[in-house]
Amino acid sequence: MKIGSKLLLLLVLTLIIIFTEDIFPQFKPDAVGDVSIKKWKDDKTAAFSFTFDDCMQSQYDYVFPIFEQSGFKGTFYVITGPLDDPTGPYWRYGTWPEFIEMSNAGNEIASHTVTHPHLQNLPIGDTLTAGTLRYELYQSRKSIENKIPDKYCIDLAYPYSEYDSDVLNYTAEFYEVARAISDNPVDSSLSGQQWYKIGSLVIEFSLPRNTPSDDLDELQEFYGYVDNTVSQGKWGLLQAHDVIPFDSIASAIGQGSYQPISVQWFDSACQYVSDAEANGDLWVAPVMDITRYMKERECYNYNILSVTDTSLKINITDTLNNNIYNFPLTADIIVPDNWSTVSVFQGSFYDYTSSYSSGGSTIIETSVIPDGGTVTLYKGLVSAINELTQKPGEFRLYQNYPNPFNPFTTIRFTLPSDGTVSLKIYNSIGEEVKTIEQNSLARGSHQIIFDASNLPSGIYYYRLNSGSYSAVKKMILLK
Ligand SMILES: [Zn+2]
Repeated sequence: MKIGSKLLLLLVLTLIIIFTEDIFPQFKPDAVGDVSIKKWKDDKTAAFSFTFDDCMQSQYDYVFPIFEQSGFKGTFYVITGPLDDPTGPYWRYGTWPEFIEMSNAGNEIASHTVTHPHLQNLPIGDTLTAGTLRYELYQSRKSIENKIPDKYCIDLAYPYSEYDSDVLNYTAEFYEVARAISDNPVDSSLSGQQWYKIGSLVIEFSLPRNTPSDDLDELQEFYGYVDNTVSQGKWGLLQAHDVIPFDSIASAIGQGSYQPISVQWFDSACQYVSDAEANGDLWVAPVMDITRYMKERECYNYNILSVTDTSLKINITDTLNNNIYNFPLTADIIVPDNWSTVSVFQGSFYDYTSSYSSGGSTIIETSVIPDGGTVTLYKGLVSAINELTQKPGEFRLYQNYPNPFNPFTTIRFTLPSDGTVSLKIYNSIGEEVKTIEQNSLARGSHQIIFDASNLPSGIYYYRLNSGSYSAVKKMILLK
């Protein structure tokens, strides 16, 4: 009994250490079909979000174009005005059409409450009584969802970043995540109410700010924050308000603008983040997407449905709301040792990838969506998949003609019923190089002329999808 107690104590201590340290991954796969989710999407070292408050006009005028150029997507916290306002939702400076345009481009439009009040001063109230906490939280979320089609608003930023236990509790009633202020990047694992006080860095610019070089020490501070985020494998968030040309800074400060950032400064900050992203260090995404990744990553489950010499079927699930949480996770999956290339299918998702060896196992890295349907892996490509996915006499994808070709070739297919098709072309390492979409095609025989004049010589794969049907074939471009 004594030894048993000591073992139990040791076990408890070990568990405590595991949960207080930021250790990842928690599970080491060791059998064929085992799935292990990477810490961050695409196996990046750390995560980063750009966030913006108070729906400033300058965010549309200056941040949005920089984002469109860099490919970054940010989170914009808006003050919506009440749902039943007869003049429509009011915005502090920007307008709905502008924020809808940014949403359509992939940015997150999130809540900054209805009227920007000090939340912890409000009575709790209810969702219909103006001037109460629950009204501020609920009406703002609903306004965004009404205004932006298909939007499910999960993210709040506290005005003034103030919260107490009531604010945290009622925020959790309406949102999946909420943001406040902190000088430190956020841990890569969060639980409970930690989700409702996510830290974000506000750069405080010291005066005077007469020339752009006066802001360089704050730029170094930001670089240091990004470096810390990467070296600690955490999630860094920048919180910004106005982003304006440097020659407007003085007058903006005079008008009470909160820590305005110059466009030049922001450009340099984005370049630094962009370099870290290119190095494979940073995953840059809106708060919403990183939240979805982390929560799914923490609660996924899988079971192996079948394993043969040439195929592997896995079911991967989570217990989260599928209206919100259907976000692709980056996974390592163990495959049989002699599988050098692997085709991955899940719903309409397709991946073709090479395996690698690690710790005595053969592993592929791919994307999986919990509750997104059975994940099916095949050894190799092409013919095996055609046999498995074709229904004879119905859906058919023919070998292209001519083949090899330069630069034109014809791809013929037949459809069993009217429908939409997409033809995707992949290069030999599985990267998608072209997509051709065709709407409302009649059942029967069709052909697509493919032009490869802008592609290099090599082996390519073409995959045709229509409804639940799909097939893949190989072709050779010889220039
Ligand atoms: Zn604000």
